[in-house]
Amino acid sequence: MNRRLYDKLIFEHSHPGRSGYSLPRNDFSRHVGELPESCLRKEAPALPEVDEPTVVRHYTNSSTNNFGVDTGFYPLGSCTMKYNPKINDALAASRSIAALHPFQPADSVQGALEIYWELQSALSEIGGMSEFTLNPFAGAHGELTGLLVIKAYHLSRQDAGRDTVLVPDSAHGTNPASAAVAGFKVVEVKSLADGTVDVDDLRSKLNDSVAAMMMTNPNTVGMFEKNIPAIAKLVHEAGGLMYYDGANLNPMLGIARPGDMGFDVMHINLHKTFSTPHGGGGPGAGPVGVRKGLEQFLPNPRVVKKADGSFDVAFEDTSLGRISGWLGNFTVYIRALAYILSLGGDNLAKVGPLATLNANYVMNRLKDVYLLPIAGPCKHEFVFDGLKDKSTGVTTLNVAKRLLDFGFHAPTIYFPLLFHESLMIEPTETESRETLDSFIEAMRRIADEAAETPEVVKEAPHDTPVSHPDDTEAALHPITSWQDLCALQK
Ligand SMILES: *Cc1c(COP(=O)(O)O)cnc(C)c1O
Repeated sequence: MNRRLYDKLIFEHSHPGRSGYSLPRNDFSRHVGELPESCLRKEAPALPEVDEPTVVRHYTNSSTNNFGVDTGFYPLGSCTMKYNPKINDALAASRSIAALHPFQPADSVQGALEIYWELQSALSEIGGMSEFTLNPFAGAHGELTGLLVIKAYHLSRQDAGRDTVLVPDSAHGTNPASAAVAGFKVVEVKSLADGTVDVDDLRSKLNDSVAAMMMTNPNTVGMFEKNIPAIAKLVHEAGGLMYYDGANLNPMLGIARPGDMGFDVMHINLHKTFSTPHGGGGPGAGPVGVRKGLEQFLPNPRVVKKADGSFDVAFEDTSLGRISGWLGNFTVYIRALAYILSLGGDNLAKVGPLATLNANYVMNRLKDVYLLPIAGPCKHEFVFDGLKDKSTGVTTLNVAKRLLDFGFHAPTIYFPLLFHESLMIEPTETESRETLDSFIEAMRRIADEAAETPEVVKEAPHDTPVSHPDDTEAALHPITSWQDLCALQK
């Protein structure tokens, strides 16, 4: 069967008079006089006239034109694209949860508030923090929230001169962006050759204008920052707070806790570590945790447990204010809590070692053909600086596109900015040995092709519904509807 037959726009399948429905007779016409003239249609709507099988095949095929973790291996470094267990979705979709309204009185949603409380308590335990708010909608939104907590803390101490946030040069772009949005100046801290923070450079940048130091551990090149205790001591002595970007918490789950390392504030990306979907910009969740003494600055509203064991929604005057409409993306919490409870503490502690093992396995089986600028062992992810043999002219972008022909999503490319040809691979713990082996085989075959028939790699992908979009044009003028496409084709 030629599935491309159904790839056209649904409107292009239209044939006058064809239909895929049969409705009972109606007698709406006798009500026509009751509607104002201005509300009546003058022409029939321009809907496609199609039969049911065409509609079903069109949408079923379209649903697989995008790559997803349910269709294949997705080693997108930094994004932790682990498999999302279906039991999470089944629970989130149950009627008793999906039919709730956020503004229901607290006594009618005790179960939902308990779920919020249970998840924030579990995250507090996992992160080594005193309390979490689940309200922020994403990791970046969590960063902003955490930095506003830090600002509120300094202001509460009449220490308003702290207007600077330190960010390592390996940091994710959201770190400096969030600091700027929170009204801070950003000062970059250099990395050493092994990708970890240069403590001497940090020392030279510490003074009484520093509000906080943001760090990711393991960092964005997959290296564990061994000097955290020393760094935390220096920052604290200078009067600043330590912010932990928890996007890379996965390899440390149940093994090491940011709170024990000296971090004061942290966020967690539920859509990374806790197996909730990453989807087209949301819904996500970026819960923020704080150490003891900072709870009063967390955003409103908060879920509190009363002395009699019941739950309530509370507002506090010392809070930084609201960061989201109400209590955030609730069905995301259901999925994350389902994941935590279905694994249990012992199995959560196996996630990190497995993710680390998988990353080191792939790294070691590819490092003879891809350039490894920072020798391992790595944690959950690692970075190649493109192919080892640079003479073929085959770039990281070409390798990434060729992988699509073999049914794999590309790794993260051209990030981190520390190398010119970054290719950042994060297999996660949910992949089987067979999947990893077939990915390794594809990566090795691409390296062979680069040497023997480089044009095959440079012209990839050959087998996708869309093959060579103009990247710049696509970013500047994205086509997001069929009307845009029709306008373009005219
Ligand atoms: C993904 C990521 C972020 C941003 O998180 P979002 O949920 O995408 O907003 C921040 N820092 C690091 C290191 C990340 O990998």
